[in-house]
Amino acid sequence: MHHYHKLQGIIGAHPVGAPKSEEYLEILKILFRPGEVELAAAMDFKLRKAGEIGDRAGIDADHAREHLEEMADRGVLLAKRVGEEMAYALLPNYPGLFEYPVMKGTDPATERRLAELWHAYYMKDMAAELASASPPWNRVFPAEEALPEEIEILPYEVVTRMMAKNEAIALANCPCRTLAKNCEKPLDVCLAFDGAARFLAERGMARLITLEEAREVIAKAETAGLVHTGSNNAERLLFLCNCCPCCCHFLMLITRKGYPDGLAKSSYRARLDAEECINCGICIEERCPVGAFAEGDEAVSLDVSKCIGCGLCVSTCPTGAITLEKRDGYQPPPADINALVQQVVRNKAAK
Ligand code: SF4
Ligand code: SF4
Repeated sequence: MHHYHKLQGIIGAHPVGAPKSEEYLEILKILFRPGEVELAAAMDFKLRKAGEIGDRAGIDADHAREHLEEMADRGVLLAKRVGEEMAYALLPNYPGLFEYPVMKGTDPATERRLAELWHAYYMKDMAAELASASPPWNRVFPAEEALPEEIEILPYEVVTRMMAKNEAIALANCPCRTLAKNCEKPLDVCLAFDGAARFLAERGMARLITLEEAREVIAKAETAGLVHTGSNNAERLLFLCNCCPCCCHFLMLITRKGYPDGLAKSSYRARLDAEECINCGICIEERCPVGAFAEGDEAVSLDVSKCIGCGLCVSTCPTGAITLEKRDGYQPPPADINALVQQVVRNKAAK
C-alpha cells in the first residue's frame, strides 16, 4: 500500500498537482497493478531507461522493461525512444492519467468505476487544484467562423494557424465525454500534437491525421457547439480539446464549479445588437456554454462579464445580431509552455 501513497506524493509534486484523497488512491490502484506500482513509485517526470528505473526499484532490467512496456501500452506512463532504447516517465493527471487510459479503452465495468472516481475526485479536490493555476493551464480559442474580418487577428488567436506549426497531429476520442456521458456531442474531436501525438498513435490511443483532416475536426466541433480549449501559451499547442459544458473538466471549472477564471478567456467577447435580435432563443438554448445570454421581452440580453469569447453564438444567430469584438484589457498568454509552467509554479509558491 505504501507504494501507492508514495506514487500519489510524486504525482502531487507535479505543477498540475494531485491532492491526496481516497478516491485518487483507488484510481491509482486501478491504473497501476500490483507488481507495477513498485516501479512507478521509483519514477518521476524525467525520461529514464528501464535499467535505471529497475535499479531504483530493485527489479532487474528485463523484468522492469516488460512491466514498463505494459504500462505505456495502457497509457499510464509516457514512453519515448531515446537513442537506441525506450525511456519512460510518469504522467501528470492532465494531460495524462485522466485522459490516456480512457482513450485506449478498457472494459465497461472498469470504465464505469473510473468515471465515478474521477468525477468524485474532480468535484471534491482536483477542480480546486486546477483552478488554482495562475495563469490558467488552458485557454479558449474563438470559433474560426466567428472571427471578425475587420480586426487584426494575432496568430495565437487562430487555432488552425497554431496547428499548422505542429509537426504531428493525432485524433482521439474525448475522455471527458467518454467517461461522463452527459450529452450526445461528438467524441472523435480530441487533438494531440507532436510528441504526445506520436506517443498516443504508437500505443493505439489515437491515430495520426493530416492538417487538412484536423481542420475538418475544428469545423465539425464548431457545428456541434463545442468550445476549442488548448494549452495557454502563444507558441505551440500540446493538445486541443473541443469541450461541452456538461462533461469537460476544464469548462466545468466555470459551468459547474464556480471558477470564472479557471480557463483563460479568448481575446474576444460577444457584442449584441439588440435592435437586430428577433428573440429566437438559439443563443440561449443551443449555443452559449456559460449562460451569458438571458431571456427578455423584446430581445435577449447579454452579460459580457460571463462571456469566455468562444464565438459559438455568432454563426447561428439568424439575423447577425451577435459579433465578436476585442476584449478590453486582454492579457496575452505566456510566450511558451515553459513560461506558463514557470509562472504557475512561481504563483503557487507565493500563495
Ligand atoms: S440567436 Fe440572435 S436573434 Fe436569436 S435570440 Fe440570440 S441574439 Fe437574438
Ligand atoms: S456569449 Fe457565450 S457563446 Fe457567445 S462568445 Fe460569449 S461565451 Fe461564447
